[in-house]
Amino acid sequence: MLPETRFPLSRADALARLHDFIPLAGRAYAVRRNHDAGPGGTATTSLLSPAIRRRLVSEADVVAAAVAAHGFGGAEKFVQEVCWRTYWVGWLQQRPEIWTRWQADVVRMEAMLADDGKWQRRYTQALAGQTGIDCFDAWVHELAETGWLHNHVRMSFASIWCFTLRLPWQLGAAFFYRHLLDACPASNTLGWRWVVGLQTAGKTYLARADLIRDLSGGRFRVETPLAREAPPWPADMIPPPIPPAPAMVADPDLRTGLFVTTEDTCLETLSLPGRIVAVAATPDIGGTPAPLKQRVAMAMLADGLDRAATRLGLAPERVDATFGFEAMRDWAARHRLAQIITADAPVGPVKDRLDALAPALAADGVALVRLRRAWDDVAWPRASKGFFPFKAVIPKLLALPPAALA
Ligand SMILES: Cc1cc2nc3c(=O)[nH]c(=O)nc-3n(C[C@H](O)[C@H](O)[C@H](O)COP(=O)(O)OP(=O)(O)OC[C@H]3O[C@@H](n4cnc5c(N)ncnc54)[C@H](O)[C@@H]3O)c2cc1C
Repeated sequence: MLPETRFPLSRADALARLHDFIPLAGRAYAVRRNHDAGPGGTATTSLLSPAIRRRLVSEADVVAAAVAAHGFGGAEKFVQEVCWRTYWVGWLQQRPEIWTRWQADVVRMEAMLADDGKWQRRYTQALAGQTGIDCFDAWVHELAETGWLHNHVRMSFASIWCFTLRLPWQLGAAFFYRHLLDACPASNTLGWRWVVGLQTAGKTYLARADLIRDLSGGRFRVETPLAREAPPWPADMIPPPIPPAPAMVADPDLRTGLFVTTEDTCLETLSLPGRIVAVAATPDIGGTPAPLKQRVAMAMLADGLDRAATRLGLAPERVDATFGFEAMRDWAARHRLAQIITADAPVGPVKDRLDALAPALAADGVALVRLRRAWDDVAWPRASKGFFPFKAVIPKLLALPPAALA
């Protein structure tokens, strides 16, 4: 456990956190979940997002535990919130261009900052937590120091960033992405787009001083005036959905290596073929993460690698820090692998790396097989429209047999 974080870093600790939280996942969650007592206060939500993000525990794990304790009716709000994550991931999966466009925008906008002194000043003050807006400045420090913010805080933060400080949402999303321990290409990018009205046409989120005072239990006074209106950002082009590629299947007869990434640190719970002779991980999460985010991701990866290695009775190995093709090819050659299995990675840096790696391995006669969890396989194709039509998939997810959900 890293001393500087209150978030579970191993599957055992994440399951213990889930166990402790479950009594609160019913009515208490529905009533209190928007309240935020701050980093030193009692949490009203599970604080499991960093663990779920890297699948130390899965959406299926947490939803099953909540429904078992409260029934679907009692746990409905919690289940829905978990399914927002699944929905965003499935939505972005079908529109990867939104992710690449955001990355390009950030590069372009950071370069533009040099030419616009006024804009640069507001941006620098925002990043330093020196805007004079008490809640916003405190949240900047909380994010940098703890790597986490409450959901309602994220909504208010993004709204103040865009509508009061008049800074581009893309740079706010980049600030979050650098620091959040749960930083997720889908939930983060689409969460920011939702606040400025790019996800739900014309619907924006306006932060309100009275609500911030109330939900923070009066910790903030919010005396600096906030924007009074939140006009939707000019609509951008949303590409038509590309249905997810069919799930891949491993060949049980091939000499196989298991490869753990930071996208899914629970490979031993997948249905794995018999001839696994090597297990490795790569310490890379892409982007330029803040040091705490990097350390937390590495601790989770180490736990995932050790669990997989213990389960298979193999020595855990590390390959090059940047998925370097040569290091992966060497690893495959050393173990005479014909197949490497990993978990399917949704849109983001790890998927980009796997996409580039697959043909290099194929040239050596090694297949890269990305196993998709049943939860994703059922949900992703149905995330092509809005969240409300997507909700129809929730009973199907809950009805998946436990073995398929492992
Ligand atoms: C601008 C913005 C950016 C965000 N960026 C991220 C991000 O990068 N990564 C991320 O995991 N979440 C993100 N969220 C969603 C949400 O704020 C966090 O998931 C939540 O605060 C995590 O706290 P918790 O684990 O205590 O959640 P709980 O309330 O206990 O919920 C359980 C789980 O459900 C999921 N979840 C809950 N609420 C949401 C939501 N509104 N959207 C998507 N998933 C949700 C999370 O996996 C969470 O761990 C963002 C929201 C906004 C408004």
